[in-house]
Amino acid sequence: MFVALLLSGFSMLYGQMNIDTLSNESFFYFVAGGSLLSFIFACVSIKCPNCGSKWFWSAVSGKGNTEWLFWLNSLSFCPKCGESKSE
Ligand SMILES: [Zn+2]
Repeated sequence: MFVALLLSGFSMLYGQMNIDTLSNESFFYFVAGGSLLSFIFACVSIKCPNCGSKWFWSAVSGKGNTEWLFWLNSLSFCPKCGESKSE
């Protein structure tokens, strides 16, 4: 989770630092690509260690825009198999 946030934050920061050398179009692709990559990364990596249920994906797809992060944060056990969240 934190790695994904860090990645997207870093890519945006890097894009902003190089905003003068990037054209508008490449800047857009840079930021969009960075966000997309960290999104995919989060979808794949944030899952149940026991049953493999994708917590991040079910949070994003199943909850409201503002609710999902809160839901994911307050998650203390797997909604599918009951395995406790080890963090
Ligand atoms: Zn599970």
